[in-house]
Amino acid sequence: TVTTSSARTLEQTTLPGVKNIIAVVSGKGGVGKSTVSANLALALRESGATVGLLDADIYGPSVPIMFGVRGKRPMMRETENGKGVIVPLDRYGLKLMSIGLLVDDKNAVVWRGPMASSAIKQFITDVDWGELDYLVIDMPPGTGDIHLTIMQTVPVTGVIVVSTPQDVALADAKKGIAMFGQAQINVPIIGLVENMSWFTPAELPDNKYYIFGKEGGKKLADEYDIPFLGQIPIVQSIREGGDLGVPVMMSDEQIVKDAFLGFADTVIREVGARN
Ligand code: ADP
Ligand code: MG
Repeated sequence: TVTTSSARTLEQTTLPGVKNIIAVVSGKGGVGKSTVSANLALALRESGATVGLLDADIYGPSVPIMFGVRGKRPMMRETENGKGVIVPLDRYGLKLMSIGLLVDDKNAVVWRGPMASSAIKQFITDVDWGELDYLVIDMPPGTGDIHLTIMQTVPVTGVIVVSTPQDVALADAKKGIAMFGQAQINVPIIGLVENMSWFTPAELPDNKYYIFGKEGGKKLADEYDIPFLGQIPIVQSIREGGDLGVPVMMSDEQIVKDAFLGFADTVIREVGARN
């Protein structure tokens, strides 16, 4: 069962059958939340778990493109008590659902706070996830209403913070860490992933260029005393795979795959220790 703080329990709808919910957050956009969510979900799957991936980024859903399911309309099913539920798609052994599959791009961006909050709430609780060991939620950037809504709607087991080593990204990551730690939400931070840590050109395989600065994520994790999950370099095939609908975990980019498998191990260990 999932651990929740008693303050949150009353309003929350437990997703029946879902054992652990991991939210992937960042303060800043474009730092690799969706990349980490998708590949972490696949790495957990590879470790033998049953895994769902929910793309809750109402303002910029990426799962449809990253998994090559853009334009697919999810099926609806009626449960025994007459409730309509959304059936997740199946891709690479993951159950997938994205807010981007239900609305067209134009509608999503004009939603205002309260409307977005109620839409996301209904969306999360209406998906028929079945039995899952892990549900990974790819969150929108920032620390706003939607985050509060999600945390108050479902019992999130823990949060993974993604940041690049760059100062502006770190400053926003700090806000995220502060938000999830505050009494109102109080969700444990499983750890911090530093993404885009360095670049190694093919013709200079022994060189590392710290384009966004060196080890900023690691230093932040140390400063806030949260587990550091590790670093992911800038790799062209991560970007290409994301655009082609084939996440890097499905490629032969072994160093990057090993990094994600390592994150998955830590998540399994950390979450297991908390349950
Ligand atoms: P977010 O969800 O935080 O907005 P994304 O995961 O969509 O960020 O990443 C933003 C862009 O950067 C995407 O095009 C993605 O493919 C690319 N990207 C993310 N991480 C890496 C990386 N380590 N190496 C190369 N490209 C990356
Ligand atoms: Mg994203």
